[in-house]
Amino acid sequence: MADADLVIIGAGAAGLAAAHFAGEAARGTGTRVLILDGARKPGAKILVSGGGRCNVTNEHVTTDDYFGGPSTIVRRVLRSFDERCTRGWMNDLGVRLKLEPTGKYFPKSDRARTVLDGLLKGVERTGVEMLAGARVEGIEHGDGLFTIRLRSGDSMTSSRVILATGGLSLPKSGSDGWGLEVAGELGHSIRPTTPALSPLVLRRNETVGGRFANFSGLTLDAHLLLLDEKGRTVYSWRDSTLFTHFGLSGPAPLNLSRHVLQARAAHPGAVYRTVLGLAEFEKPDEAEQWLLQEANRNGRRQVSSVLSTILPDRIAQAFAENDGRLAEMNKTRRRELAIALAMLEIDVVSDRGYSFAETTAGGVELREVNAQTMESRIVPGLHFCGEMLDVDGRIGGFNFQWAWATGYLAGLGAMKHLVAGKR
Ligand SMILES: Cc1cc2nc3c(=O)[nH]c(=O)nc-3n(C[C@H](O)[C@H](O)[C@H](O)COP(=O)(O)OP(=O)(O)OC[C@H]3O[C@@H](n4cnc5c(N)ncnc54)[C@H](O)[C@@H]3O)c2cc1C
Repeated sequence: MADADLVIIGAGAAGLAAAHFAGEAARGTGTRVLILDGARKPGAKILVSGGGRCNVTNEHVTTDDYFGGPSTIVRRVLRSFDERCTRGWMNDLGVRLKLEPTGKYFPKSDRARTVLDGLLKGVERTGVEMLAGARVEGIEHGDGLFTIRLRSGDSMTSSRVILATGGLSLPKSGSDGWGLEVAGELGHSIRPTTPALSPLVLRRNETVGGRFANFSGLTLDAHLLLLDEKGRTVYSWRDSTLFTHFGLSGPAPLNLSRHVLQARAAHPGAVYRTVLGLAEFEKPDEAEQWLLQEANRNGRRQVSSVLSTILPDRIAQAFAENDGRLAEMNKTRRRELAIALAMLEIDVVSDRGYSFAETTAGGVELREVNAQTMESRIVPGLHFCGEMLDVDGRIGGFNFQWAWATGYLAGLGAMKHLVAGKR
């Protein structure tokens, strides 16, 4: 197979961004840029993203929206290609965006296909060659050259490689952690990985705080908190929470998942508590105060009926247990109910795994990568971008923003060296 100057491995969001910007910089330089993907039809993850609508970026993107590697490095990357750059670039690709009240940007068509087609056509226009169905099985590095071996038995050499093979989420899309193994073999430190933005599985238990099987399909505006052994808040997030047959899904549980899983992975013996509270109440005292006020106003009403003014009926009934009229509730039971409303301990036994996770926490150690070019500080000529780096964003378009920004830097960074080398 013909050799190339730059080979990009992985044609997901990050790889396509890298290919587009590298391709533009390569015009007229006689540089051959090739992008490979193991999938016959690249871009599967883009197509399923945002419920099939692809949440491309967010109105406000800051380092607070990301976890993992040092925020100073994340900030430098995000500043180089921010959300305004994404919007302008999408416009150039013919993808019209609309802003929703949540701050999320989607294509006006409401179809992720518009974004993928815009990217694929944009890459094609730059003259970058795309090879689909080309799974890479090995990379060797020596004498300033990379040898890339494909599953088909073919191989090629290249002086620069961009690894854009994703993390471990949605493995059926072709992202199964292979790139992380290769990066490790080439000498990079890999921060321990866990699923992120994954639904949470609760212990099967018929009481309130258990699996909530009876609540399946209901949503609540809730605070979710992760507390450490001393009761200190590790992470908290307020957003919609969806009850399912296995546990919890929706924005708040998905955002919490990486914190639960990373904390457990880092401190296997430690006891972390997960707590769910109605958004109306910051603390049990506030819930207790509300119950007292309601008892004064509506003391003759049944507790379940009062609770159903702030909760779906099925949940109100479960919380009220065998309570009768509100005015007859004693102090101990009122406190117990207030705690359940504001700080209900839930028993998270696991997550739903990489097959249901939207991204990966952990990955290639950020300090080992130059934040201006995404080039490895360990293997000259090797660049990284996207989900395989030790950075994961919360729900809201932040993971794509990371993929576009790192793809942009890796594509331009690799080309800068190649063009300088040709002069
Ligand atoms: C269901 C779902 C919904 C999501 N929704 C959103 C959203 O709306 N907004 C948002 O910001 N983020 C969303 N995300 C996250 C976002 O999709 C990812 O952060 C992003 O796609 C990561 O891009 P990437 O290019 O780094 O990796 P990937 O998209 O995983 O691409 C990696 C590519 O590398 C290829 N590859 C892997 N190994 C090899 C190999 N050995 N040889 C050749 N090719 C290989 C794979 O086939 C794949 O095409 C969602 C994710 C999921 C799963």
